[in-house]
Amino acid sequence: MAAKDIRQLSLEDIGDYFESIGEKRFRAKQVDEWLWKKSAKDFDQMTNLSLATREQLKKDFVINHIAVDQMQRSSDGTIKNAVKLFDGMTVESVLIPTEKRITACISSQVGCSLDCHFCATARLKRMRNLNPDEIYDQVVAIKEQGEQFFGRPLTNIVFMGMGEPLLNYNNVIAAIDKITGDKGLGMSAKRITLSTVGIPKLIKKMADDEVKFNLAVSLHSAINEIRSKVMPINDKNPLEDLIDSLKYWYDKTKRKITYEYVVWKGINDQQKDAEALLKICKAVPSKVNLIEYNPIDDGEFQQASNEAIGMYVKLLEDHNIPITVRRSRGKDIDAACGQLANKTEN
Ligand code: SAH
Repeated sequence: MAAKDIRQLSLEDIGDYFESIGEKRFRAKQVDEWLWKKSAKDFDQMTNLSLATREQLKKDFVINHIAVDQMQRSSDGTIKNAVKLFDGMTVESVLIPTEKRITACISSQVGCSLDCHFCATARLKRMRNLNPDEIYDQVVAIKEQGEQFFGRPLTNIVFMGMGEPLLNYNNVIAAIDKITGDKGLGMSAKRITLSTVGIPKLIKKMADDEVKFNLAVSLHSAINEIRSKVMPINDKNPLEDLIDSLKYWYDKTKRKITYEYVVWKGINDQQKDAEALLKICKAVPSKVNLIEYNPIDDGEFQQASNEAIGMYVKLLEDHNIPITVRRSRGKDIDAACGQLANKTEN
């Protein structure tokens, strides 16, 4: 049987383990600090434990640390990592540098079970959920790259890599607890954004669980018929239910929702589309990020004209809804939104 990954154990569990081998319980705290705060990759680093204890730990456990297998740099500074997991599977993570920020865009699942027609990750089967430590390690790796290549600290984290974070709810929440906790990275939850296709039941659960991070919803259309065509998840989770859950979120958290929205030629580039979006924006306090479309295939989807984008911007601004147009980053290395598809894999 494979040795157990020690980071699947709680501090309590490790304390129990130490007691069971006749060691002092407080050793667990030391180990915990090495595992999370100091991101130790092996037991030999744990120099405040005796050699014998370290050897014993090596016999009983492994540390399944991720390995950045391949790193690609875009002409705009963006870095894409192919991240190798302990079982040989790969996910991708991205470092996005801007003037003021170093943002880590991280994955929550290997592949994705959803079928958004415009997204490259959707073409990969969902293989498995990432463990909390695998999510945490992606953040640590990018934090180190920020320091190494830009001399700047990590400022923001977005769950906008591969996978649907809400379909890996417990592990994502556990990872964020470590990222924000003082026994981990101590980052502010205000600097973390979870992006979801919008699963009403789980949005309500996050509100009930009183999470402190921000919420982004990949909307792409505010008209059911159109949204269902590009995002089949909308069939069973129509906009009415989604809006209802977002109202619930806002009532509990008082935090604005961000809508991610791509405007495509011939799909959602008409006045009626923008008006439907405006209506939704008025229903719950929110802002809109218009994302540039990153082509992934044969041209079924095409970025809408500048006029269409301008029409959206004018309509929303006229009604005081904050809206920003986002330029894509890292396109030349397939690191932009919706382009993560393990293309670097051999
Ligand atoms: N599953 C989550 C996390 C992925 S975030 C979610 O859907 O929100 C990735 C973001 O990029 C989402 O907003 C997604 O809708 C968007 N996206 C996917 N494919 C894209 C593409 N080809 N061009 C631009 N944005 C895309």
